[in-house]
Amino acid sequence: MVQEELFKKIVAHCKEYGFIFQSSELYDGLSAVYDYAQNGVELKNNLKEYWWKAMTQLHEEIVGIDSAIFMHPTIWKASGHVDAFNDPLIDNKDSKKRYRADVLIEDYLEKINEKIEKEVEKAKKRFGDSFDETMYRQTNPRVLEYLNKKETVHNDFVFALENNDLEKIRQIIIDEGIVCPISGTKNWTEVRQFNLMFETKLGSVAEGANSIYLRPETAQGIFVNYLNVQKTGRMKIPFGIAQIGKAFRNEIVARQFIFRMREFEQMEMQFFVKPGTELEWFETWRIRRLNWHKAIGINPEKYRWHKHDKLAHYANAAYDIEFEFPFGFKELEGIHSRTDFDLKQHQQFSGKKITYYDNESEESYVPYVVETSVGLDRTFLAVLSSSYFEEQLENETRIVLKLPAPLAPIKVAVLPLIKKDGLPEFARKIMDTLKLDMNCMYEEKDSIGKRYRRQDAIGTPFCITIDHQSLEDNTITIRYRDTMEQERISVDKIYDIVKEKIDIKNLLKKL
Ligand code: ATP
Repeated sequence: MVQEELFKKIVAHCKEYGFIFQSSELYDGLSAVYDYAQNGVELKNNLKEYWWKAMTQLHEEIVGIDSAIFMHPTIWKASGHVDAFNDPLIDNKDSKKRYRADVLIEDYLEKINEKIEKEVEKAKKRFGDSFDETMYRQTNPRVLEYLNKKETVHNDFVFALENNDLEKIRQIIIDEGIVCPISGTKNWTEVRQFNLMFETKLGSVAEGANSIYLRPETAQGIFVNYLNVQKTGRMKIPFGIAQIGKAFRNEIVARQFIFRMREFEQMEMQFFVKPGTELEWFETWRIRRLNWHKAIGINPEKYRWHKHDKLAHYANAAYDIEFEFPFGFKELEGIHSRTDFDLKQHQQFSGKKITYYDNESEESYVPYVVETSVGLDRTFLAVLSSSYFEEQLENETRIVLKLPAPLAPIKVAVLPLIKKDGLPEFARKIMDTLKLDMNCMYEEKDSIGKRYRRQDAIGTPFCITIDHQSLEDNTITIRYRDTMEQERISVDKIYDIVKEKIDIKNLLKKL
């Protein structure tokens, strides 16, 4: 299936089966804001549990917090968000659409990449077994030309970013003939800087009210609580603080569904270390975080590393984990070595000392920080899109979400074959025992085939069917989602079979 078509189908599926709705749909929607529906919220909560337990339960040196969204406005001065973090924007005069100039150029570079891969694929088919890919990449004139172009544009782009040269960024867009995806023209404005933070008022809107911001990241809530947690938790360096929470950015390019939203959720962990050890810890966390993603069970080839071209002013190393979404490889998580920048800034702006006394080395220092920051919504999209399958059966197509059982919204569907003869009562009894431990769904409407399809479409790993024989010998039929195999088992075996598969432990023990 063409990837674009697949993506459209996934978006439609999310709505039809109660995973994600457009926010305020009744009022024609609010752009780049989404609501998680009855099944979506369960999947999202399971992802949160997996991350939270992987961070806090599996690491005695990491504790969690839940800081407020509203914070003192000076925090955003100290962090650099008020003055330094601006995005370069450009408008197309014909479509009147606004874009992030850096994203336009990055997409262009990715397109050159795709062209190279297409050439290689074509050659692979043409030459068959005798094909030497490495040699081809090194010698084919067309591939070399593309590589050369990519490198030149890339170098110019990085240079312009590093020097904050907005005119140069615009020139690259003009010179490379980058067109607006909507109007198809090159009629661009100048590049301008734009601040992405939402501003609101604290207290009465009348005179004297203070402007505050909706946090654009959860990290600062951790930094400003560093001292509190270290002291009250009697934490010894190295240690970490984890947090899951909403963040808000007034994103300009609002497309690609929940990939880029104005209100989204982050799962961040800041790991405080002794200065000089940060790059070692950075490597450790890089490996740990990729393992966390891979343990979910998605094809490992869908993940790749992206080294940052331009380091933020506070970082001395930064990598992204990119995921192959249906619209291409894009950032899923950032892992950054943030030095002592944030704590030092807060020390300066608050006028309070933020240091750590190290008993071992008998010295005081401002700790360095290694950050891992993953988008919950992007993880949701990664998991959902790679679990979506259309399977051709004898006389129909089955749509199935092959979600890992510990993440599935509903674990078991309990289905009496018919609505009479005591079958519903028997089924209800099974529901009543299982529901204390897991999310179950009871369904008695429609044919059993239709009910199986509905459960497949929301990713329920187990269906349990109760028929007349159940009343006689206390057995039921259990159906497995992925293989569609059915097995007759005794009622008292259900719990053990299901419980073993749905436990979040199955993911955690792979770490
Ligand atoms: P991008 O370059 O895609 O805008 P970023 O580098 O600004 O992302 P970070 O500031 O590093 O992102 O935020 C950490 C993580 O938060 C990202 O890896 C991503 O998963 C998530 N994230 C950031 N912005 C959004 C958004 N607008 N909607 C959904 N998730 C987001």
